[in-house]
Amino acid sequence: MIDVTQPIYVLTIVAFVIGLIRMGNPATARSGILWAGIAMAFSIAVTFFVPGISNLVLILPAILIGALIGYFAAKKVAIVDMPQMVAIYNGMGAGAASSIAAIELIRLGTSPFNATIALAGAIIGNVSIAGSVIAFLKLQGWIRQKPITFNLQQAVNLIVAAVGVFFGIVYLTHSNFLLPYRDALSPFFVLTIGYGLLMALPIGGADMPVLISLYNAMTGIAVGLEGFAISNYAMVVAGILVGAAGTILTLAMATAMNRSVGGILAGGFGKTQEETRTVSGNLKPISSEDVAVMLAYASTVAIVPGFGMASAQAQFKVRDLVDLLIGRGVKVFFAIHPVAGRMPGHMNVLLAEAGVPYDLLEDRDEANRAFQDVDIALVIGANDVVNPAARIQGTALYGMPILDVDKSKNVVVLKRGSGKGFAGIENDLFYMDKTKMLYGDAQGSLSKVIQELKKL
Ligand code: NAP
Repeated sequence: MIDVTQPIYVLTIVAFVIGLIRMGNPATARSGILWAGIAMAFSIAVTFFVPGISNLVLILPAILIGALIGYFAAKKVAIVDMPQMVAIYNGMGAGAASSIAAIELIRLGTSPFNATIALAGAIIGNVSIAGSVIAFLKLQGWIRQKPITFNLQQAVNLIVAAVGVFFGIVYLTHSNFLLPYRDALSPFFVLTIGYGLLMALPIGGADMPVLISLYNAMTGIAVGLEGFAISNYAMVVAGILVGAAGTILTLAMATAMNRSVGGILAGGFGKTQEETRTVSGNLKPISSEDVAVMLAYASTVAIVPGFGMASAQAQFKVRDLVDLLIGRGVKVFFAIHPVAGRMPGHMNVLLAEAGVPYDLLEDRDEANRAFQDVDIALVIGANDVVNPAARIQGTALYGMPILDVDKSKNVVVLKRGSGKGFAGIENDLFYMDKTKMLYGDAQGSLSKVIQELKKL
């Protein structure tokens, strides 16, 4: 029988690339996802025609169960819970790559070269699935978000990783060390998965986005390596695409947060002291009527959205307010921090959903140049990304470049109460003389401000 799978794989790879390119622009991103999804569906379908495929009785129900869980989970998930869903699904990819490695290695007939590749992929995949599970549990709030640390943590991590890799080498070299070489696979898998769990524990709060995108990149690399090991070139290319895109994203996120990716791998990343600072000053509440009056007389307003805008689903009200202000001749811009919210591009996605014109969005550097001329900075559910504590050594946020909202002439913060940001530390901005607090759910508060503004 002619093997039609390879040419079709090539077509799916082209579709993956088109999808990726289209995802690079908010206007075409939706269709990019569709291209990539269709390409993936084709890749899976074509695999059934690979000569020699067996175990259909196991494969088909597994696909059905997975597809049903994925479909219903994706339908049900709230936009604010998207990061943990991304984390866990990404982990699943890594787990799938590791499973392929396990099967290849258990088979024993694999060439030494392929076995080495499969082992390398399994190490990366195991670290990624284990770490993704910890990231999921932390983001879901099922375990402590703050760094989980213990004595000699780095030494323990290093030993677990080294012994795991050692058993991989025992398997590869057929050394029969302590146990028959073929049994070395079990401790290899247990220890490398254990290292993945341990490595993620000390990473907390504000460092999570870099970690998730790092796992994304690692999953891609693991899939690519396993594709090599089983000579499936669609897997190789898809893995390389994910690995490369994930690496670029990781580096961009790390730069945005002034963190070092090398530090993550060394395991010291994310270790921060518990907050011992006390912040001086008072929180000064303001009414929606007064905010409306301030806005009515402002000439430049900066909107600074954060996770609270997503949580309140306030983007549509934000758009209404901005339309109203622009209609009154106020100059308005949005200051977008790259890690505002809970996933890369979170604010951009929400504002695009509400139809906010893209040319109103300024990135952090542009916004920081403009804040000194801003009459009112309206901080809508943002906290960490505007926290001047990031300039103070020893705080959990130290080193992360922030939006310099404190340089504006006046600041109004919309939040519900005394909730802290993701990093769990006090925010000096809220206590400054120029800052007023408009308490309440962001959507409700904005509705009231809009109502009041319309009266003026
Ligand atoms: P944030 O630091 O998480 O603060 C959000 C604020 O919104 C809280 O202070 C909360 O205060 C308020 N809030 C919550 N629900 C609200 C509602 N319904 N209405 C009004 N206010 C509400 O947000 P951020 O400034 O956007 O910073 C993002 C943080 O998440 C960073 O530390 C970042 O590193 C981290 N992170 C980012 C990503 C990513 O990829 N973007 C991924 C994971 C983690 P109240 O409770 O008092 O209302």
